[in-house]
Amino acid sequence: MHRSKFLVASNEEVQIFVAKCGPIGNNVGFIENAKCHEAVLVDAPFGTFEASKSMLLPGTKVVAILFTHGHWDHVGDGHVFKNLGVQTYAHGLDKLLIEHPELVTMVVGSDMSLIPCKIDVEVKDNDIININGWLEIFCRWVPGHAAGDLAFYIKSLGCVFTGDTLFNGNIGRSDFPGGNELLLISGIRKKLLTLPQDTTVIPGHGKFTTILKEKNNPYLNGGPPA
Ligand SMILES: [Zn+2]
Ligand SMILES: [Zn+2]
Repeated sequence: MHRSKFLVASNEEVQIFVAKCGPIGNNVGFIENAKCHEAVLVDAPFGTFEASKSMLLPGTKVVAILFTHGHWDHVGDGHVFKNLGVQTYAHGLDKLLIEHPELVTMVVGSDMSLIPCKIDVEVKDNDIININGWLEIFCRWVPGHAAGDLAFYIKSLGCVFTGDTLFNGNIGRSDFPGGNELLLISGIRKKLLTLPQDTTVIPGHGKFTTILKEKNNPYLNGGPPA
């Protein structure tokens, strides 16, 4: 299948492709600069390395992985890229889960065998990551699904990757360790719904949406529909 089918946003320099990877079909962001032959990934579930061969142009170097959080379904192929020298980014509160995945599989009861992936850069709320001068990523800490949930706002392309915080018409579950429903809802309201309303929301799972549409998300307005 041609990769143009997976194109979500683009400008003269940068294109964002999103493909489903891993056993539960996580959305993975492939942000590519075809001029300097570099790419940044948002999350790296199982199957991401294989998918990168068809999503990215030949000769493109993945230079960074931004992890939205440390749950097993978002990190399985992280170590493959790490071994190739890719710089890895995650919130400090989820770093332990990615570097010691046996802890994750214990708490979610998954029997997935995960290989540890070292985190190079601990991301904090409001950090701006600059990728070799061609991409700026505005980071927002939106905890409450995990402890270290991050959203990555790509202002130049009008997209935000929300991981498992904000979904199309739904929000992330908060019954895992580190979860807190009230914190999650207030974080989404303050840090995500305040983005420009035409921003494309690319969640970790399921269909894309927009900030405008999610202003009517029932879970952010007093609970699910009766
Ligand atoms: Zn999760
Ligand atoms: Zn997930």
